Amino acid sequence: MKIWLDDKLVDQEDAKVSVFDHGLLYGDGVFEGIRVYANKIFELKAHIDRLFVSAHAIRLKIPQDPETLAANVQATVDANNITDGYIRLVVTRGVGTLGLNPLVCEKGQVIIIADNIKLYPKEYYENGLKVISANTVRNHPLSLPPQVKSLNYLNNILAKLEALDRGVFEAIMYNHMGYVAEATGDNVFIVRDGIIYTPPTSAGSLEGITRRVVIELAEKSNYTVIEKDLVRYDLCSADEIFLTGTAAEVIGVVDFDNIKIGDGKPGPITMDLLKKFETYVRQ
Ligand code: PMP
Repeated sequence: MKIWLDDKLVDQEDAKVSVFDHGLLYGDGVFEGIRVYANKIFELKAHIDRLFVSAHAIRLKIPQDPETLAANVQATVDANNITDGYIRLVVTRGVGTLGLNPLVCEKGQVIIIADNIKLYPKEYYENGLKVISANTVRNHPLSLPPQVKSLNYLNNILAKLEALDRGVFEAIMYNHMGYVAEATGDNVFIVRDGIIYTPPTSAGSLEGITRRVVIELAEKSNYTVIEKDLVRYDLCSADEIFLTGTAAEVIGVVDFDNIKIGDGKPGPITMDLLKKFETYVRQ
């Protein structure tokens, strides 16, 4: 496998970063997860834009301009002959000292990995997921803003551990005011009486690119989509719940905190949007 490191492709064996990199020492950096469908990188510009905004928010200078970075992502995909796969684009603060000070890190470190993707098994899409409510509260917007896709995912990882401890793969995270924020790696939607609701990203979620595409596809199909704060009760009483994300795409939730959602199968609007999303990404 070829990995993009800094300004060139190298063999996987040679793709090494310093133990003094602040991405490793402090989770100081930003990243993107991007899909390749049928030979095309999905929403590359949106991912590059979000990466640059995240980096700007933490005062990290990406050492390539957006066009060059996009071309390097494409070059990594091409070098590995990835026609359907997953790209991890990482920019760390770079090499510094053992102190916290990010200003001593001279240059951000760019890493691009393009690989095949291990998806949720097909039956999860047909039968739906079980999820739980996490006790771990989503990061406060004045600590690490959830809109920053930073390399520090401990907040999400702690919630993910709660899910795994309880025998499920995903957890719903709430913000410091008790409103639904997102899942550990996905955005959340519910359906009630035919209307689709999702929390605003100000409730503590990443501005998901899949979320945005799904909202656009839903509106094009004449569904009403409303962004509003949701509480746990809204999930308990939903006709449908689904999650969206680059890896998961659109996936139904059929059990929430041991409460059956709908008739215990992914609902009709969830399945319709999944079908529309699958068609859209390959067109
Ligand atoms: N929320 C979190 C915390 C995420 O890590 C992700 C990406 N895996 C998402 C939401 C979904 O965002 P996107 O659709 O851009 O992948």
